[in-house]
Amino acid sequence: MKINEMRALLDKRNIQLTRSLGQNFLHDSNQLKRIADAGEVTKADKVLEIGPGLGPLTEFLLERAGEVLAIEMDRRLVEVLKEQFPQLNLVHDDALAYIRRKPRDWTEWKLVANLPYSVASPILIELALAAQRPKQMTVTLQLEVAQRLMAAADDDDYGVLTLLVQLDYEPRGWFKIPASCFFPAPNVDSACVTLVRRETRFLSDALRPMFVRIVKRAFSQRRKMMLKLLKAEWPADKLEQAFTELKISPMERAEKLSLEQFVELTKLLAS
Ligand code: SAM
Repeated sequence: MKINEMRALLDKRNIQLTRSLGQNFLHDSNQLKRIADAGEVTKADKVLEIGPGLGPLTEFLLERAGEVLAIEMDRRLVEVLKEQFPQLNLVHDDALAYIRRKPRDWTEWKLVANLPYSVASPILIELALAAQRPKQMTVTLQLEVAQRLMAAADDDDYGVLTLLVQLDYEPRGWFKIPASCFFPAPNVDSACVTLVRRETRFLSDALRPMFVRIVKRAFSQRRKMMLKLLKAEWPADKLEQAFTELKISPMERAEKLSLEQFVELTKLLAS
């Protein structure tokens, strides 16, 4: 979909874009193709698209996937989409609320989306921690958020988002998308990242809430020693024993600990 077609669709219906909904539409067909390629979408796939907007990515997904489910929050765009893609399975809803309200089996689904930037992180966390999470997530978002998703221990971008998503997903490739590829151009850089569900789970479902609590508490004050922070929620003796067993210094800050160390700490604190 070219920028002129987008303008025409919006003008025809007198639609003024809503900044708070992150309405920056991708009009560059090379980048759209790269996203669909990164999602490795084939007729065997069921694809969830969050925030289809005017449908430039939807067009590619409908061509390539076996099934597409799209969730769009803006009623005006839902009307456009219904007209443009009568065959599309389209839900008019806030995607985050929809996913939370209707836990479903996403295990055979891929998320391929140019996400609304303001809710990209909560949506990714919600899906990544779901008991029946998608097998792959290829998402376009702010470059800064993409870097957090791909970070490793001790990187500046390493933190809560990194760990909650990487617990069950491995980052597999990314590329930058220039702001000029969007209409209107956002004032931040963007990137497309692919996250692939791990074949072997690090933790059972029962231990996941504990992992989330530990990670959030450990990063609640980035510059503080994590042992001190964790003492607000767990008994000092249990924590000290776990730190000794895992050979973690009591002075360590959360940003130095690897995903595997957080996993081991979770197992020890849960025992
Ligand atoms: N996929 C389109 C594209 O690439 O041009 C549009 C992407 S635009 C960055 C984000 C889209 O998400 C907008 O259409 C916006 O209306 C929609 N949106 C914003 N918040 C949403 C939410 N909570 N749930 C579903 N859609 C949302």
